[in-house]
Amino acid sequence: MTAQLIDGKALGAAIERGLKADAEEIGGRRGAPHLVVIIVGDDAASHVYVRNKQRACERIGIKSTRYDLPRSCDPEDLMELIERLNEDEEVDGILVQSPLPPGFDEVMVTEAIDPRKDVDGFHPVNLGRIVTGKLDGLLPCTPSAVIRMLESTGEALSGKRALVVGRSRIVGMPAALLLAQRGVDATVTISHSKSQDLRRLCLESDIIVAAVGRPGMIEADWVAPGAIVIDVGINRISVDGAGKLVGDVEEGAFERASWMTPVPGGVGPMTIAMLMSNTIRAASMRP
Ligand code: NDP
Repeated sequence: MTAQLIDGKALGAAIERGLKADAEEIGGRRGAPHLVVIIVGDDAASHVYVRNKQRACERIGIKSTRYDLPRSCDPEDLMELIERLNEDEEVDGILVQSPLPPGFDEVMVTEAIDPRKDVDGFHPVNLGRIVTGKLDGLLPCTPSAVIRMLESTGEALSGKRALVVGRSRIVGMPAALLLAQRGVDATVTISHSKSQDLRRLCLESDIIVAAVGRPGMIEADWVAPGAIVIDVGINRISVDGAGKLVGDVEEGAFERASWMTPVPGGVGPMTIAMLMSNTIRAASMRP
């Protein structure tokens, strides 16, 4: 069996086309939706991600403003900027690019953002809403990308055994919560660094969501024939001296899965589409 591709680029582009009309409608009513992105320091990958997010804004008709703070800045400067943006009626969404340099408390920074402007969906209010089954707010981008990609296969998810590998605050844990929601109805297992016999857990699963950050840690023959694989991992490795991006799942799994996301071109572009969707949602929730 060779897996069908879950094409994050194509799905993301289709979502963006729909958002364009929403952005125009909001723009006509009260000015273009406005996303502010803050980046602290000079992490090369973060600069690429931020540029990609700003390009998506341009495609859709979302105004984007970028603040570059030096690595040496005081965490207090960042908190003051967030406070100012929280109060700014012209701003619909605020995103602080992760990772922050040492000395910054990412959770505290997230909590400082007005939950109504938290387009990453990481604020405890927005994460907590998922636990109560309220899915009409700002959902975390990568976990909602995972769900949208699973739904795009057209396969029935109800009652399926889903394994989420990784339990981070921003990917694994909220992805598991979304998979277990009424309406999606998967039976969810969460695994982490203390889990035993990951191979067996994988082989028993109909759906594998890999979010660890270790190249190829899920071996091809751990994937049950016909399983659906969503590979969230983004790992930069060197092949013959050249850089290459790979996921957490060995590429050979394409020969066993029924559906699988590529890396790159899978969850990455869909995550950006979900960020754009949150920005439109945040703008339409405000007067
Ligand atoms: P974190 O480092 O925050 O979390 C990694 C998780 O993996 C932890 O919960 C850890 O467990 C778990 N883990 C580590 N080793 C094992 C193991 N042997 N078996 C099972 N679980 C293990 O990473 P993130 O969640 O932030 O990101 C994960 C990956 O996803 C990264 O590659 C990142 O680059 C990528 N990513 C991709 C995005 C996209 O848009 N495509 C967006 C965000 C992230 P424990 O809790 O016990 O330490």
